[in-house]
Amino acid sequence: MIQISCKNVTLGYEGVAVVKDLNFEVSQGDYLYIVGENGSGKSTLIKALLHLKPPMSGEIHMDHSLLGGGIGYLPQQTIVQKDFPASVREIVLSGCLGRFGWRPFYGKKEKQTAMEHMEKLGITHLADRCYRELSGGQQQRVLLARALCATRSMLLLDEPAAGLDPEAMQEMYHLLEKLNREEKITILMVSHDIRAAAAYADHILHISEEPLFFGTKDAYIQSEIGRKYTGGMKHVGDA
Ligand code: ADP
Repeated sequence: MIQISCKNVTLGYEGVAVVKDLNFEVSQGDYLYIVGENGSGKSTLIKALLHLKPPMSGEIHMDHSLLGGGIGYLPQQTIVQKDFPASVREIVLSGCLGRFGWRPFYGKKEKQTAMEHMEKLGITHLADRCYRELSGGQQQRVLLARALCATRSMLLLDEPAAGLDPEAMQEMYHLLEKLNREEKITILMVSHDIRAAAAYADHILHISEEPLFFGTKDAYIQSEIGRKYTGGMKHVGDA
C-alpha cells in the first residue's frame, strides 16, 4: 500500500525554491533515508510531510490514516529539550495527545499504549525518572516511545543519532531496524549519514544535488551520485 506519494513537488520560502521537482513514493513497511548536506532542504521537506508547510507547486498525497497527526515524529534534539523537567512517563504519554485527542486527563487507553511502548523500548524502569537526568541514548528511546504513541504505521525521524556515542547510535539503528522488520512500521529517516543509509535503507532520496535521486539502495550505490557520496561502497557491510 502506498502511504505517501509526492508528485513534481517544489518547496521553498517566499517564492524562492529550495527543493525542486521532487518525485517519490513511500509504501507501507518501507525504510526510506532522506539524505543531503546541510541546507539542502531536509527540514523543509519534513515540514511539508507534517503539513506544516504547503508545497509551492506539485502534490503530496497521503493515506488518510496519516492525516491529522498519524505520523510519529521524532524531532532533532535541542538543548532545551534535553533539559526538559518532566518524567519519562509524562513525555511518553504526551505522544498520545494527537492520536486520542486532547482531554484534561490521560485515560486508560493512553496509559496502556504508553506502557506498551516503554516496555518495547526497554525503558519501563525509567518511567519515574526525570528526562533530563538520562543519558543521550536513553533520551532518544524516550522520544522514540513518544513518537510510537502517535502512530501505528509511520515514524519520521530527524537525525536521531546526532550527538549519540557510537554504542548508543548502533542501539538506536538496531531498534529502528527491529520496528521496521518486525512490526512493519514505515521509517522515514532524515539524515546526512550516507553510510548508515547504505546499511539500513530500502530506498534512498538524495536531495542535495540536481538531478535528485530516488530509488532503491542498490541503485543508489551504483549511481553516479551514490558512488560520489558513499565513496564507492560495494557491500552493505562496508558501512
Ligand atoms: P537542511 O534541513 O537540509 O539543513 P533546510 O530545509 O533547513 O535544510 O534549509 C534549506 C534552505 O532553506 C536553506 O537555504 C535555508 O537557508 C532555507 N530556509 C530554511 N528555513 C527558512 C525560512 N524559514 N525562511 C527562509 N528560508 C529558509
